[in-house]
Amino acid sequence: MHIYICSKCGAVVEKDSMPAVSGCPKGTHSWSIVAFNGSLVAKPGLHPYQCRNCGILIYSDSMPSTVSCHFGGTHSWIKL
Ligand SMILES: [Zn+2]
Ligand SMILES: [Zn+2]
Repeated sequence: MHIYICSKCGAVVEKDSMPAVSGCPKGTHSWSIVAFNGSLVAKPGLHPYQCRNCGILIYSDSMPSTVSCHFGGTHSWIKL
């Protein structure tokens, strides 16, 4: 299970795959991942980071953890 948070409305969803974008009170949900397979990737925050390997986008206050990249190995985060 992965945990996703909507950066627009703050909704948190636990799911195996990216949740649907419909139903956001502020238009469409903008999901970013918080925990991947139970391991915390980042504390939710305001700054967008993207992994160069798997392309996932997360919002965090500080550099996210490099564990559990979808493509194997570790995430390689760049601050957007
Ligand atoms: Zn939302
Ligand atoms: Zn990655």
